[in-house]
This record gives sequence, C-alpha cells and structure tokens, in this order.
Amino acid sequence: MNRELIPPRWLEKLVLRHEHSKLDKAIYGEKLEPPEIDSLFREADFHVLTLAADYYARKIKNNRGSFVVNLYVSYTNICTTSCSFCAFYEQPTSPRSYVRSIDEITSIARNVYEKKGIREIHVVGGNNPSIPYDYYLELVSKLRSISPNLVLKMFTAEEVWFISKNFGISTEKILEDLKERGLNVLSGGGTEILDDEIQLKIAPKKLSPQEYLRIHEEAHKLGIKSNVIMMYGHIEEPINIARHLYRIRMLEEKAPGFISLVLVRYNPGQTPLSKTPLYRSKQYRYGVYDLRIVAVSRLVLLNYIDNIVAYWVAMGKKLAQAALEHGANDLGGTFYNETVISSAKGSREYTTPEELSFMLRTARWIPYERDTYYNYFPVKKTISLPWMEQ
Ligand code: SF4
Repeated sequence: MNRELIPPRWLEKLVLRHEHSKLDKAIYGEKLEPPEIDSLFREADFHVLTLAADYYARKIKNNRGSFVVNLYVSYTNICTTSCSFCAFYEQPTSPRSYVRSIDEITSIARNVYEKKGIREIHVVGGNNPSIPYDYYLELVSKLRSISPNLVLKMFTAEEVWFISKNFGISTEKILEDLKERGLNVLSGGGTEILDDEIQLKIAPKKLSPQEYLRIHEEAHKLGIKSNVIMMYGHIEEPINIARHLYRIRMLEEKAPGFISLVLVRYNPGQTPLSKTPLYRSKQYRYGVYDLRIVAVSRLVLLNYIDNIVAYWVAMGKKLAQAALEHGANDLGGTFYNETVISSAKGSREYTTPEELSFMLRTARWIPYERDTYYNYFPVKKTISLPWMEQ
C-alpha cells in the first residue's frame, strides 16, 4: 500500500498545538523506531492520539465497520508447550483432554456452514505429539470439500513450527502441503508479544519471535495470507508493544501478506501467570491503556495493515466497542464454538451478527459483514432501538 496520507487541517493544527514530535510524524505515516513508538504511547495527548487514529480508521475503511460470520473449531486441547498464560491446554492423561476426529470436525463445519452461512472456518489446536502428519493434511482436504468458497483459516505459526520439529519436515514444505490441500490463510496466534524479553518469560517453550516472523514470511511468499495477533495486558511494557508493532511493520514492508492485526487482551482467569508477582505488580491497567494500544497500533501500521481488530471475545463487548471509536475497524467474528479464551474466562460468551452490527452502528460505523479478505457484504438484519430511528 502506498497511499498518500494527508491529514486534515484541523488534525494538523491539533497536533501542532500539543507539540509532540512523534505524533507529528505518525499522522503522516512516517516510520517510527521502537523508542519513538514507546514515546508516542506514553506521552502523546490521549485525545489527540485517539482522534487521529479514529480519523484514519474511518477514512481508510470508508466508514465500513465489520465482522465475519465464522466458526471456531479446535481439533485437540492436548498441548505439551504449557504456556503460563494458557487455560486451554490439557495433559494427555487429563480426563478433559480430547482429539477430535476429522469426520467430527467436518460434520460440525458442514452443519454450521449450511445453517448459519459462515464464510470462514478458523481451526487451531494444541501441540499434540501423537497426531500424525497426515491428520493435518486430511483435515484441510476434508474441510475444503465442504465448499470451494469457505475460507480455511487454519493453524498458527507455532503449530507449523511444532509439526516441523515433530516430523523433521521444513516449515516451508508443511505450508506448501497445507496450501495444496486447500489452506487459505494462516491464523495469527502463536505469539503474544514479538519480543524475546517477554516471550521467554511467559512462553519459553514456544517458537521465538524471529521464527514466528520467518514462518509468516514463508507463508506470504507462498501466497498464503496471514493475520497477526498481539496479546497484551500481562507483563509487557509499552516498549515491548512498540517492538511488536515495529517488527510487524518491517515484515509487511519486506514480504506483504498480513490481513489484520488482532488485539487480544489477556484474560488471567486461574492461569499460572496471573499468580506471579510480576503480573500482580502490573495488573491495574484498565481501559485507557487498552485504547492507547488500539490508537498506537493504527498509527504505526498506517499504510501497512488496514485492519485493526478489537477481538470482542478477549476484550469483552464493552471495551471492544469503545475500541471502535479509537482506531479499530473490526470486531472479529461471531466465533461460534470459541474455546481458547473461554477456557480462561470460565464461561462462554456468544454473539450474533445482529448484535455485532448493533455494536458497530452505535459506534458510528456502517455495519458490514465481511469475508476473511475484507470483501464487504451488506448486513441482513440489525438490532434497532427506538432512539436510533429518530
Ligand atoms: S497457548 Fe498454545 S502452545 Fe501455549 S499451551 Fe496453550 S495451546 Fe499450547
């Protein structure tokens, strides 16, 4: 993307009045180094920062706010990686552990595809060493057989890396094999913050930030688009967030292919990380912190990633809707069947296309249903309250 970024006069004047040199660079889409992003995050005036982010979000997206009707399925919750923030995984001996058969997953997907008209199926799972290589390939093939139009968003870079280690096959070959069977898009999970300082503390057995970026680069070069998440709200500091955003921007410049940045707030639940003194010393960071993350993400990625997703499952509906007024343009999906975040929360939240449309509309967006690639479709129904018609 190389669109010319010309901020309106009123925004230029506002920024000038607040004399923040990094904000001054950001509104023209200039590249900021991590210390500059850190400064933007910590010091820029909240209102000017978020106004600028919101202005660009609406301008770039032409006021189209969106969500996708999708199904989430996990094929196994057995995972040997034991990340400290994760409430989803189980040991193989646990009575709660499972591996779903390919037929079961295909039948769930087919049923939801026919009844709910989903446009995307999102499939991820734990690092389970007992799953054979052919399982992954056949799972993609069977899901592809449901419809050529259903977008298969499957596997994180972490899963690809784990499969590579488990079977001694290169990550590039795995991606090629999956693409050949029908994989469209790589899921954005697999990292939390792309900074060794954080990853080594919260997920030391996971792939490194460098490996994560290398696998996404390979995917992009093979024509597999991908998403990237940022899980924040645990032990990170703004400089770690700055490095994360900087690295995404650099990779997108080198090997374009990211569709969206998905912002995921950490849900502590009963996870081991939530009981550590380090987390406890940082836990009192509420809404303003989140909204600064949304705004800074939008401004740092201007001209690189157009879609900033306020992942309602992790943020909660209220905060996700507020994010739509501070730089985010999308709410993620309906996530029929979501389990990973719900495991930490200890409860399942559901939503409908009507509710997501309502959330968008009341945050001053024109609601659209979208597909994975952000092709837009008019929404069929939305909730309407009497005052909205006045
Ligand atoms: S976050 Fe992923 S890799 Fe880590 S324990 Fe949970 S399922 Fe396993």
